[in-house]
Parts: sequence; structure tokens; C-alpha cells
Amino acid sequence: MQNQDHLSIDSLGLSALEARLKDDLSVLCWPAKNWVPPRDGVSDVVIIGGGMCGMVAWLALTSGGVHNIRILDRAPVGLEGPWLGYARMETLRSPKTLTGPAFGHGSLTFQAWYRAQFGAKAWEELDKIPRTMWMEYLCWYRKALNINIENGICVDSVEPEGDLLRLTVSGAETGTILTRKLVFATGRDGTGGPNIPDFMDGLPQHLWAHSADDIDFSALRDKRVAVIGVGASAVDNSAEALEHGAKEVRHLIRRQEMPTINKLMGIGSYGFTAGFAELPDEWRWRFMQYSFSTQTPSPRGSTLRVSRHPNAYFHFGKTTTRIEQRGEGAVIHFADGTSYQADFVILGTGFNIDPMARTEFGDAAAEILLWQDVYTPPPGEERGDLGRFPYLNTDFTFREKQPGKAPWLSNVYCFNYGASASLGKVSGDIPGISDGAAWLSRALSAALYSEDVQTHWQDLLDYDTPELLGDEWEATDLETKSQTIEGQVA
Ligand SMILES: Cc1cc2nc3c(=O)[nH]c(=O)nc-3n(C[C@H](O)[C@H](O)[C@H](O)COP(=O)(O)OP(=O)(O)OC[C@H]3O[C@@H](n4cnc5c(N)ncnc54)[C@H](O)[C@@H]3O)c2cc1C
Repeated sequence: MQNQDHLSIDSLGLSALEARLKDDLSVLCWPAKNWVPPRDGVSDVVIIGGGMCGMVAWLALTSGGVHNIRILDRAPVGLEGPWLGYARMETLRSPKTLTGPAFGHGSLTFQAWYRAQFGAKAWEELDKIPRTMWMEYLCWYRKALNINIENGICVDSVEPEGDLLRLTVSGAETGTILTRKLVFATGRDGTGGPNIPDFMDGLPQHLWAHSADDIDFSALRDKRVAVIGVGASAVDNSAEALEHGAKEVRHLIRRQEMPTINKLMGIGSYGFTAGFAELPDEWRWRFMQYSFSTQTPSPRGSTLRVSRHPNAYFHFGKTTTRIEQRGEGAVIHFADGTSYQADFVILGTGFNIDPMARTEFGDAAAEILLWQDVYTPPPGEERGDLGRFPYLNTDFTFREKQPGKAPWLSNVYCFNYGASASLGKVSGDIPGISDGAAWLSRALSAALYSEDVQTHWQDLLDYDTPELLGDEWEATDLETKSQTIEGQVA
């Protein structure tokens, strides 16, 4: 029996892991040969967003031989995504073993990265992945694959130009960029924005924040803080306020009871990942509607982080109807006729999916086909927020409401949470993103190929490099019937 120890990366350090990754990729002949005919001054693909979805999309595309790619991110280096910004949980919700953006490469997993530095024992003892460590891992992933993310560049708008897209950018680069395909790897709010309910209208900005805002928690010391909602972000913000010395934090919750079961996580499987997009509308709607209605609970650890404070409260059945400024604070009115005075309000109301909320599309956002345009749910399954999700093609591309008005939308790929109503959980949460990226890369490559079919046909006609040189065989005449073939009777 051979000793397997030499194969282990435990505690060998990141350089050893990087060497192993390099070997793995090299035997797979990565990156694949570029086959896309070049066009002067035009990118084949621009990916907006250098978070994990943008990076794994790049890995999938380069694995398929698409190389003329630019990845643009408005965030500074190392601050892509929510992880070091408005994400305020101590650990990820996801189990540590998820392979996330590894795209089938063991050496690219979080587990390999962790064990290479801290060893197998520490890995066994690790419960959940600390949030900041997840960002360290993503930074290593970028470095190990040498991904060229261009930080500090914001994509402000996209417009069609012939069969191309012209992007207007600002920040570290100003001007315009031409591309054939555009991937929106823009994150959790990437096809929408923070959900700000109408009851906030008129409340001065210094009295409230959304959970995704940059909040100065030290300013909440000795303050009465109201948190609307009890989802994961609401709870994380509540914990931050409590840990910064808030006088009290009260969760004001519309529901009568705490959601406790993470339904979609419970049924997660490769079958769901692969099969969801193939289901008819009524089944896709039913799954998503049920998941939205039952609501994902905040993680147990995050909830305990709040409830261990004696000055934390959970109030159920409190539907906020109106909030008004009173003195230095805000009075929150509820549907049951009661009210509460707070010094500061945090909205834990999540994000809306609504292409109209994205400035990048300009007026064309109104042309994007939505679920509410194509599907009328049966009584009892209605949901306005789900209806505003884009109704995508199976290749992640947007569709137009009226054929012919914005055909260029079929060159724009929605590789973010906005795709989930149409395609399931393959472009946002950690578990399914490598599957999503493989799917995206295949579809995008197929589109590039078929658009260039004339060139590829000409390449076929022009190709004249012989594989046989002519000295490998000799032509002879076929013996006629009347002749004797050796060993046979004529
Ligand atoms: C608070 C929080 C906690 C989460 N926890 C988990 C978890 O535990 N497990 C799990 O599976 N999922 C979790 N998720 C969901 C998901 O994993 C994350 O949202 C993740 O960041 C998605 O990666 P992404 O690459 O799609 O987007 P992001 O990481 O958000 O990256 C998108 C990037 O796009 C850039 N960008 C956007 N618009 C533009 C523009 N116009 N121009 C240039 N750049 C732009 C942004 O700067 C950003 O860096 C969490 C999400 C949030 C918000």
C-alpha cells in the first residue's frame, strides 16, 4: 500500500497549494486555446462585477477558450462584494464544505485554502467560515488564478451599437468600451436595489438607514434602535448595534411567528440545480413563491448573537404603516394602532428585484420582460415582488417585452440573484455558482460561435495543413476477379 501522506496539502502553505493548482490546471491544458475571431477595439465579453460570480464566470469562459474578456468593478481592490462592507455576520451561513467557485478544481476550494494554512485538525474543528476569512479566500482565488479585475471602474450605462454594446464607464477609466457580450455579475442587488418601503417617505435621512448602508454604529451608543424585519441582515445589524452599546434594539416584525425552517436549503440537490430551469412556469413560480412566503430564517448563531443581550426584543405582529419624525427621533406606527418611539431606524427589509431600479439600462430597463408580463399565478400564489423578476432565456440573457424594441438585450447575461426566478440558485448563493458559470460559458460560447459561423466556415475551407505527408502509404491497383488472390482459389 502506498503512503498517501505525500498527497496531502495540510499545513504545506499556500505556495505549495498554488503549485498544486498550477499542475492541476496545466494537465487540463488550461487555459484553452482562444478560438474567437478578434475584432479590433472590441472585447468579446465584459463582466460587470469582480465578486465570486464574476471570477468564476471568467474561469469558466477561459476554460472554454474565450479570453478577450474585461472584468470591471467599481469597488477598490479587496472590497468587492458585501463581505467587508455591509455584510455584518460573524460567519457565513453556508456549510464550510461547499465548493462554491472552485469550478471542479479541488485545489481551488475554501477547504484546500484553509487546510494548506492551518492543517486538517483545525479544519475538523472549524464550525462555520468566518466572514472576513471568506473574503481573504476570494482574494487568494483571484491571485492564484491571476485574474485581471479592473477595480475602481463603474459601468454607468449600456447602449446598443449595431450588433455590439457600448458601455459608458467612469472612475479609474472614463469613456466608452465596446463589447459583444455583457455579463451582469453585479451581486445580490444586481438586478434591483435595497427595498425601501413607502412608509419611509419623508423621514429625514439622519434618522434611518437600510441594512446595506454604511452605518456608523458607534453613533448608536445609548440610542433606542428599531430594526424593521427579522431576516439575516436585520439580525446582523441588530447585533452590531447592541455590541456598540445601543440602549435597546427592538425588532419590529410583521409576521406573527419567527420563520424557523430554511426550506430551499433543505431540498438543495444537484437535481434541483440542474432541473429547475427546465420546469414549466407554474412549477418554477410555485417553488419560488413558497420559498418567499415561508421566508428564510436568520441563522441560529446570528439570532443568538442578538438574543444574548437582555436589551434586545423581538415584537411579532407589528406591521409598520407610517413613520414620522418627532423631536430628535422617529415614531413608528403599526397597523394594530400602537406605536413606538425610536432614536434610529434600521431597515432590514432586504432587496427588491426590479430592473427599473438599475441605472445601467437607462430607459431600456422598461423593455425587459418580467415574470408579471408572462405569468398569472393561480389564486393564493400571487406575489408582486416575484412578478418583477426578469423572465430570462435559459442562457441567462434578458428578453424584450416587445419583440424588436430592444433586441440587444439578448447579448446581456443576468448572472446574479435576479436570475433565480427563471433559472434557480445558480448565480448568487455559494452552492450552485460553478454549475451556473459552466452553463453561462457554454451558452455564451455557443452564441459567439454561431454569430461568427461565416468566419468559422471560411477557416474550414482555408485550412490546408496536412496531417499525412504522403509518405505514409502507397496506392495500388485493386486485383481483378480473374486474378488469383494469394491463398484463395480463383
Ligand atoms: C449580507 C450577505 C450575506 C450573505 N451570506 C451568504 C452565505 O452565507 N452563503 C451564501 O451562499 N450566500 C450568501 N450571500 C449571497 C451571495 O453569496 C453574495 O451576495 C455574494 O456576494 C454574491 O456574489 P456575486 O459575485 O454575485 O456579487 P458581489 O460579491 O456582490 O459582487 C458584485 C460586484 O459587482 C460590482 N458592481 C455592481 N454594479 C457595478 C457597476 N455598475 N459597475 C462596476 N461594478 C459594479 C460591485 O462593486 C461588486 O463588487 C450573502 C449575501 C449578503 C448580501
